[in-house]
Amino acid sequence: MLISESMLQQTQVERVIPLYRAFVARFPDFEALAAADAGDVVRAWRGLGYNSRAMRLHALARAVVARHGGRLPSERDALRALPGIGPYTVAAIRAFAFECDEAAVDVNVRRVVHRVLFGLEHPPGASAAVLDAFAREAVPRGRAHDWNSAMMDVGATICTARAPKCLICPLREACAAAPVDAAALAARARAHARPRSPQSAIPFDQTTRFLRGRIIDRLRDVPAPQVLELAALERALAEIVPDDRLPEVGAVVETLVREGLITRVGAGLRLS
Ligand code: SF4
Repeated sequence: MLISESMLQQTQVERVIPLYRAFVARFPDFEALAAADAGDVVRAWRGLGYNSRAMRLHALARAVVARHGGRLPSERDALRALPGIGPYTVAAIRAFAFECDEAAVDVNVRRVVHRVLFGLEHPPGASAAVLDAFAREAVPRGRAHDWNSAMMDVGATICTARAPKCLICPLREACAAAPVDAAALAARARAHARPRSPQSAIPFDQTTRFLRGRIIDRLRDVPAPQVLELAALERALAEIVPDDRLPEVGAVVETLVREGLITRVGAGLRLS
């Protein structure tokens, strides 16, 4: 569950499924993941992007082994103290893995709860804390897994942001928003639409993410314990990176070293 949550944070589900299966087959438990070389974990992350997620999972596995003998604890405080685990993930783990009466409230579930309680308006009392507390209270005792799955499905497929399908919604009898006037909702969405950010207009090959990904990909192909010198890395990247980006390679490598994704070995570089 932790691995799928992490993979799905930034990557589409169809792409995740085969990579998830391969990753879990290779690292079937916390001990296996903790014992692996960090570079091997990043290599196994190939195809998913945002490689720092692999590093975070690796650090988490090591903490679970060191502090809890390789078994994830179910207590809220013990989970919260682990590296890289925020309040949402704590609730999701407790609900899905341990059937504790918890609500894992993501943006979709919060939207459903808001509409059921307050309709489409946003009164001052409709804070995230109030919505989350209501969600926790609404979890039927002992049915957290089913309840959370159902709410996530309703939020993702029925009570969508722009086109809620109230006629087929199982919550319509209790919902303050139902039935939603689709035309009015579309007009509101247009009125509140944020202007396209300048960042989203930047071509992908001009982003730092593009450069980071190409550098990590190249180093993935260097089998341990071999290393690659910076000049050789730049030569290899020259074939796939626009010329105007090559001067940035050194600085991006420095950042990746600081973040722990790359290690320096003498004058060479390798995955950590
Ligand atoms: S009835 Fe409509 S607005 Fe209310 S939860 Fe269902 S889809 Fe959303």
